[in-house]
Amino acid sequence: MTTATPQLDIHMFPCLEDNYGFLVHDPESGFTACIDTPEVEPILRALDEKGWQLTHILNTHHHFDHAGGNLELKEKTDCIIVGSRKDAKRLPGIDIQMGDGDTYLFGAHELTILETPGHTSGHVIYYFADSGIAFVGDTLFALGCGRLFEGTPEDMLQSLQKLQELPDTTLVYCAHEYTQDNARFALTVDPDNGDLRTRSTEIKKLRERGKPTIPTTIGLEKRTNPFMRTADAELQEAVGMSGAPEVEVFAEVRARKDRF
Ligand code: ZN
Ligand code: FE
Repeated sequence: MTTATPQLDIHMFPCLEDNYGFLVHDPESGFTACIDTPEVEPILRALDEKGWQLTHILNTHHHFDHAGGNLELKEKTDCIIVGSRKDAKRLPGIDIQMGDGDTYLFGAHELTILETPGHTSGHVIYYFADSGIAFVGDTLFALGCGRLFEGTPEDMLQSLQKLQELPDTTLVYCAHEYTQDNARFALTVDPDNGDLRTRSTEIKKLRERGKPTIPTTIGLEKRTNPFMRTADAELQEAVGMSGAPEVEVFAEVRARKDRF
């Protein structure tokens, strides 16, 4: 007989200018993780509001708006810091070093780490397969992807292709609220995509009411995110690159977004 694993509780709250903080709580074990540490005070306040005790920090990458609060939170809560082995030297206070495909038991929930280089060389994402939830940091955004600070277009394309292999229903939590700007750009390279137009209208309404556009899903991104549609014939035609190698189309779309 199998016992159903209780759902993980996710609590999301704004940090800094446009970051999101996330707490993941397993009611059974009491484990509570925060995904990255953009800002200490809102994280402590959220823990307090929920009555949860921080047991883990899961770092996606080393940027200050993702790991800047590591040491202070560790000192205050004695939590365990998990991150990429490749970034061990630049993730403050790291305790557990993980590599691509490694798993970690978060209570009874299996957590899988996937390496997704591109934004930074050591970027990883955290995937809870049993709950169908992925925390993707600055690799994938709703209708966008991270800037290529330490990777090639090929690196990022491969990382996004890895994410596309997750089930379409996977809930995707990105680290920033960039969606409205991303939608404006997406329409310039994929103007005839009906799903994208519908989504843009919905995003505008959400933002007018101050509501988050996160989480998204893998399925929705596959249909509407230009960085996941660089093999699509209509998008290729719209950017004047019909039949070009996908990585070249991807590089062009990324370059246009950088200038947008
Ligand atoms: Zn970043
Ligand atoms: Fe960031």
